Amino acid sequence: FSQQIKQTNTTDELGQLARSFNSLSTSLNEVDQNRKEFLANIAHELKTPLSYMKGYAEGIEEGVVTKEKGLGIIQKEANRLDRLVHDLLDLAQMEADTYQLQHEPIAFAELIDDVVDQFSLSAKQKQVQILRDLDDECIIMGDADRIEQVVRNLLDNALRYTPADKKIFITLYRKGKHVHLEVKDEGIGIPEQDLPAVKQRFYRVKKARERKDGGTGLGLSIVSQIIQKHEGHFDLISVEHEGTTAVVTLNSYSEDVLNS
Ligand code: ADP
Repeated sequence: FSQQIKQTNTTDELGQLARSFNSLSTSLNEVDQNRKEFLANIAHELKTPLSYMKGYAEGIEEGVVTKEKGLGIIQKEANRLDRLVHDLLDLAQMEADTYQLQHEPIAFAELIDDVVDQFSLSAKQKQVQILRDLDDECIIMGDADRIEQVVRNLLDNALRYTPADKKIFITLYRKGKHVHLEVKDEGIGIPEQDLPAVKQRFYRVKKARERKDGGTGLGLSIVSQIIQKHEGHFDLISVEHEGTTAVVTLNSYSEDVLNS
């Protein structure tokens, strides 16, 4: 594929064939390149926590690190590996041609309330307040587990990138044929030049990469995939040092579907 078929300037069939073959080989090369990069990223992301774990285990054995400190770090890195493997499995599953989403009615406000409850302890520990304004009559159709994962990932980010004494606002409303979910935070925001890339797998803004409580860089790509599979939209609006708003738009259904 790397060799280009010689193109002529004619509009004859052979010329057309050559042009379509060349554009196909370019896109195949891109796919191949993406796959290679993805594998290299996975290897790197798996290697980092593993070398920490190995290093601290040796440190404990040789007596250069206290047991308490070493085990704490090993546990943290094991959790990170666990999260990474889960996220990767989710992505791989969703990208498989055979992947089937559930299609069930979802009372969206109720689902969000459940997720916020799961986060209430960590929000309290971080001294970040989560405020909600949810329209109870927002009904969507889809896979409840996956939609829950969307809300969890967005809230997880909002909390991770928001400092103490700031707030997170979750709003759910209907407009025309759509339901909109907004998760708005008063956190560090995303620099303008990074904004177009943050939904890509493994992409992390420099500041986030430096943070020790870091995530996997896969959260937003999982959100994008799930929302795309639900035929919805996912947008991020962000101003550095001011905050970020994640907006999810899905088709709205009447409450009748809950009883059908
Ligand atoms: P991660 O696990 O690193 O949070 P994500 O895919 O969820 O990965 O997000 C990608 C990157 O986008 C993050 O590393 C961070 O730099 C940036 N980001 C995502 N959400 C926010 C937010 N609410 N505030 C600031 N930065 C964010």
